[in-house]
Amino acid sequence: LVDDPLFWNYHNVQVLIRIRPLSTIERVSQGYARCLRQESSQTLVWLGHPETRFTFDDVACETISQEKLFRVAGLPMVENCLSGYNSCMFAYGQTGSGKTYTMMGEINEVEGKLSEDCGITPRIFEYLFSRIRTEEENRREERLKFSCKCSFLEIYNEQITDLLEPSSTNLQLREDLKKGVYVENLTEYNVTTVNDVLDLLVEGAANRKMAATNMNSESSRSHSVFTCIIESQWEKDSMTHFRFARLNLVDLAGSERQKSSGAEGDRLKEAANINKSLSTLGMVIMSLVDLAHGKHRHVPYRDSRLTFLLQDSLGGNSKTTIIANVSPSNCSANETLSTLKFAQRAK
Ligand code: ADP
Ligand code: MG
Repeated sequence: LVDDPLFWNYHNVQVLIRIRPLSTIERVSQGYARCLRQESSQTLVWLGHPETRFTFDDVACETISQEKLFRVAGLPMVENCLSGYNSCMFAYGQTGSGKTYTMMGEINEVEGKLSEDCGITPRIFEYLFSRIRTEEENRREERLKFSCKCSFLEIYNEQITDLLEPSSTNLQLREDLKKGVYVENLTEYNVTTVNDVLDLLVEGAANRKMAATNMNSESSRSHSVFTCIIESQWEKDSMTHFRFARLNLVDLAGSERQKSSGAEGDRLKEAANINKSLSTLGMVIMSLVDLAHGKHRHVPYRDSRLTFLLQDSLGGNSKTTIIANVSPSNCSANETLSTLKFAQRAK
């Protein structure tokens, strides 16, 4: 993995692959057989037929720590938001490939410090608040002041539920000239410490599980979106200046093909909606990459709730990071290949 100071220089979409370690079951059932060979910090080979070589911005090996991953992929997002640009991070991959481990990890603190297994989201906020304290201190003369507010929602079957107020289901997306795209009646909490954020993450994760159980489903079929709006204000040349950025951290539904064969009614609709929102996301990202290469493309934001919601944070000056999570085991060779292909298209 390379620590690249030019992280987003080429275009505004950055793609990183994270290979998780083999699980016990995979080791037992497949005797350590792997479908991937990593060749460098940017290339890996899929060992099926035919062998296929892929190149990405970064390939994180099986043993990369949560801390290192944060420094490569999370830290630049914080800096970017502090400069006033919207950012989105997506965890993509089949169920069990490590999306939630990457985004959330084990959320806990030991003696006031995040534990080693803490994922990228808690680390982002730990860093964000420390940067805010330093900036406010350094620019006291300008009376620089930050404020952050967070929301946490889930999109399941193209319906939006507030994960911090789970009785609020079927929320609607609205568009406003000043606010841009927003979710009507979504609760927002002011946060000033990492602990404030950890509380929201834990509560939201519990509600995500509960909502899935109530709907007789699995959380792997929903997308969760944790958003922080970072506002700052300062005084210079006897004027008050404002800055505003959105940070979106998205744990996507499992990318495995949702079976529609044999499914009827609600199940069939659900399968179609999941496939649709992931494929729309893929289309939007591909269109943005084409635009960055000077090709004119229509960006189909409105084709899914997820992309419509994130419209203001995808494209333009916004930065997007995709972490494509894969299992290295032979058991998952086909799903791993399809994730690598998705990630390849986003480049
Ligand atoms: P997903 O959210 O994609 O369905 P999870 O994040 O729940 O997958 O991961 C599946 C299992 O693998 C979990 O038990 C998780 O702790 C473990 N896991 C995933 N990635 C890693 C990793 N990089 N290192 C150690 N364990 C991991
Ligand atoms: Mg998960």
